[in-house]
Amino acid sequence: MQNRRLETGLQLGVATLILSSLYLTTVEIACNWLIVHQRRRVLGGLYLAVVPSSILFMGRLYVSLAVGRKTHNVALYPFPNIDELKEPYECTDSAGALATCLKCNDAWKPPRTHHCSTCDVCRLQFDHHCPWVGAAYELVQPCSILPKKVGNCVTLDRLDSFLALLLIVPFTYSIAVFPIRTILTTSIRRGLDLSQKNTWSRSIWWDWYGSWIFFGGPLGRWVYGAALGVYLLKKEETCDLPLVGCPSLRVLTLAIFGFIFALFCSILAAWTLHNILYGITTLDSLRSRSDLTQRLVCDPRQHKVVSLLPQERPYDLGWRRNIAQIFHHNNPRTGYKWSSINPRVLDRMRTSEVIERRRD
Ligand SMILES: [Zn+2]
Ligand SMILES: [Zn+2]
Repeated sequence: MQNRRLETGLQLGVATLILSSLYLTTVEIACNWLIVHQRRRVLGGLYLAVVPSSILFMGRLYVSLAVGRKTHNVALYPFPNIDELKEPYECTDSAGALATCLKCNDAWKPPRTHHCSTCDVCRLQFDHHCPWVGAAYELVQPCSILPKKVGNCVTLDRLDSFLALLLIVPFTYSIAVFPIRTILTTSIRRGLDLSQKNTWSRSIWWDWYGSWIFFGGPLGRWVYGAALGVYLLKKEETCDLPLVGCPSLRVLTLAIFGFIFALFCSILAAWTLHNILYGITTLDSLRSRSDLTQRLVCDPRQHKVVSLLPQERPYDLGWRRNIAQIFHHNNPRTGYKWSSINPRVLDRMRTSEVIERRRD
């Protein structure tokens, strides 16, 4: 329950950030500042054409990740007969048995499926549970009438939208703040200067030992110090310029939160891209090496089962095919599609000693 509250808080924060950014960029920066005040109509028009549409696209991706149909990605396939399987697959023992989920009444757990403890459902092609992308409702039991709130996971089927969102956030932020970058840096510099000199802000913030510890530690000390200074500047000065031309706590807050969000998305985008190129999921990357060597692969055509070596990635098909795979979505109506196994693992199986022999 506590997780759910935290997740709802994060999602409301993201939604507020997107809506506030849309207002600030469209009305305040493009119209009031660039077009009306600075009379730079071409630049204002270009800004209007790019930034709000990027933010709207970001919002659309966000909503589709949160409530889109692909959220209904729960494994509900019938248990296959392993004697009829032709494709190589990941198995659980030397007889080529398939995995089951104890928490889902021993239902079949297809390869790369993981039971998400937060959502309490098995997710097909699980990558990670994402608290940022919204709570979803779905019919977990085919016979249930009311949808059950199950939360959200990022699965391989949704990784293309997730990556697009991670890439578009830093891109949009960089362009959005570009016309006001000098105003922002000047405001922060003047704000810091004033708050360090002002008796009131010194006594409540700079001289308080807690400013080093609470509210973000040493970094938070300077961020809140600057915000206090901008607040004081706004109180002390009369400014006839549009909102973004004056010291504004609202603009500064949005710029700081936007920066943190863009930085967070950039790091996550780099991490996600790295995983895609190597054919692993976020869950795989968090697994230990000993965990990996306990994984087994069965090739029914060779009647063999092998353990994976520590450096082997079972679903790594080479970077080009790994990238192509994220655009290839599973269609529940056409039945389960087995994930292709790394051809190097199958080659090794062919040429090396048999580690385990499949039951015939
Ligand atoms: Zn399960
Ligand atoms: Zn989940």
